[in-house]
Amino acid sequence: MSVAIEKVKCLIIGSGPAGYTAAIYAARANMNPVMYMGSQPGGQLTTTNEVENFPGYPEGITGPAMMEELKAQAERFETDVREGWVTKVDFSGDVHKVWINDDKEIHCETVIVSTGASAKYLGLPSEQKYLKMGGGVSACAVCDGFFYKNQEVILVGAGDSACEEAHYLSKICKKVTMLVRRDEFRASKIMATRVQNTENIEILFNTETVEVLGDDYGVTGARVKNKVTGEEKDIPATGFFVAIGHKPNTDIFKEYLTLDETGYIVNVCGTAKTNVEGVFVCGDAADHVYRQAITAAGTGCMAALDAERYLAAKEG
Ligand SMILES: Cc1cc2nc3c(=O)[nH]c(=O)nc-3n(C[C@H](O)[C@H](O)[C@H](O)COP(=O)(O)OP(=O)(O)OC[C@H]3O[C@@H](n4cnc5c(N)ncnc54)[C@H](O)[C@@H]3O)c2cc1C
Repeated sequence: MSVAIEKVKCLIIGSGPAGYTAAIYAARANMNPVMYMGSQPGGQLTTTNEVENFPGYPEGITGPAMMEELKAQAERFETDVREGWVTKVDFSGDVHKVWINDDKEIHCETVIVSTGASAKYLGLPSEQKYLKMGGGVSACAVCDGFFYKNQEVILVGAGDSACEEAHYLSKICKKVTMLVRRDEFRASKIMATRVQNTENIEILFNTETVEVLGDDYGVTGARVKNKVTGEEKDIPATGFFVAIGHKPNTDIFKEYLTLDETGYIVNVCGTAKTNVEGVFVCGDAADHVYRQAITAAGTGCMAALDAERYLAAKEG
């Protein structure tokens, strides 16, 4: 028996700060938004303990608690928040088709993509252990650097973002040891020179992490290996930052939406519009620069307003 096709005015894909902010604005504009939360309800912030930089929480708040509050706010205005994963889209026609769990088909007048991005990690069991424990492993220097004020930290990575994060940390932390796998940076010359000229950044080339070291309270350092000499040594540190890139969750859209070389959705400058009329993007799915909850929320607002204006223009 085939399931009836549902018609929706505004479909929001993803339940991070971008998706919930879009939902609040869309719901208050009578767009009856339907949101699918995906496999990570609440998004990336549900994996962190302390959020201290989102305006409005002077004492800070845990990531999961903040996302519960955003969900409650979106539901207060009757956003229909559902469990489910968008497995396929077809944006080739006037009506945007979306499939949930390879089964249910929805026809949408507007779609807001807020599927975020996932930080890449090394994949070492010890790294994952302290990441899950909330004990000193992080993929976001801007988010977590402050917790390591005047302490020694390690940062893994060799690209522009890694250099930027190392430089950011160097202003807060006592010392940053940067582990670079090859014998050179992947970063642009200007970024590499900047870290090389920073007194409290030590760069170890040809160096891999063997294990993240720690105790019951969190990270205490890392065992590293020089790939050329084979020599292993332990570096003391209370924070272990991984800056080896992010993967935007955009694979299902690549046939229809313009993506950049890394997979981020390309928006029309200064708007949340994509190359497809009626399809909008917000949050980390289109942002390789800022990647913060507040910027995700801000662009979520833009996406809902752009969608509302698109519908108003269509309805004449
Ligand atoms: C450990 C950690 C700590 C952080 N700390 C801070 C901090 O202190 N302050 C700060 O400002 N930022 C912080 N950030 C960054 C912040 O979490 C992100 O910038 C923000 O969450 C991005 O929001 P988003 O809504 O774009 O996407 P996300 O939060 O990534 O949410 C994406 C959503 O899309 C859903 N989804 C993906 N694919 C599909 C699909 N096919 N179908 C349906 N749903 C889908 C997921 O289930 C998820 O709900 C941190 C990030 C991490 C990883």
